[in-house]
Amino acid sequence: MGLLDGKIALITGASRGIGRAIALKFAQEGADIAFTYLSNKAAADETVAQIQALGRKVVAYSSDAGSFDKAHELVGAVQAEFGRIDILVNNAGITRDTLLMRMDESQWDAVLNSNLKSAFNFTHAVVPIMARQRSGSIISMSSVVGVAGNAGQCNYAASKAGIIALSTSVAKEMGARNIRANCIAPGFIDTDMTSSLPEELRKEWAKTIPLRRAGKAEEVANVALFLASDLSSYVTGQVIHCCGGMSY
Ligand code: NAP
Repeated sequence: MGLLDGKIALITGASRGIGRAIALKFAQEGADIAFTYLSNKAAADETVAQIQALGRKVVAYSSDAGSFDKAHELVGAVQAEFGRIDILVNNAGITRDTLLMRMDESQWDAVLNSNLKSAFNFTHAVVPIMARQRSGSIISMSSVVGVAGNAGQCNYAASKAGIIALSTSVAKEMGARNIRANCIAPGFIDTDMTSSLPEELRKEWAKTIPLRRAGKAEEVANVALFLASDLSSYVTGQVIHCCGGMSY
């Protein structure tokens, strides 16, 4: 018996990285999976194949999470295909790093749209479904940077701080309908997002982490599993850090 037997999960940005690890973890625990990606079809196909190998139903949707209309259309399609939505993971995200004084409007807008507006779009579309079901768990991917800020990432940090405020507000609005909303704040996790950073910088960062290493996507997925499952039935409005004790 799995922790998510009979549940339907919708995960944004699960073609790669943390999203894919969450999709696989949920499928291993018995959930059927709907997931989105932006453009990387080959990676999305690989996620689909890995979930099918686990014997679970899975459908991948190519859709820009930053579009309000597309998010609503997609949630309608998932509801029609799967019949319900028990778990939403707002995971899709990008970086466009540079110092504030060099940042242009397009870098700010791209990150706020993909990271923060996307979470609003999907939460807004899914909440009525969960309200009718009188149950649901919404998990949104923040970051330690959203709590502490980071030089060179004012757009990203603002988007991740906004996700915390969105999530804690939804927890207060929707708790009476048995809808829980929580955030995960990962630290430095080994994925495509961090692999482009210079090796020297990666080593320097690792030294500042008490556990002395980058995290794995699967370690974030374990926290997501806790928040998705009934193990966290009395947990809402929280931010769980998954960062190896990283100080900030
Ligand atoms: P990643 O490996 O770069 O994967 C990003 C995923 O998001 C991909 O599936 C990508 O789809 C999708 N995506 C990006 N923009 C999208 C959009 N507009 N619409 C739909 N899908 C979109 O990133 P990751 O490291 O796994 O990060 C996942 C989440 O964790 C992000 O929100 C990130 O900010 C957060 N996080 C990561 C770290 C870290 O150290 N890695 C730390 C803290 C927080 P395509 O494959 O089609 O491009």
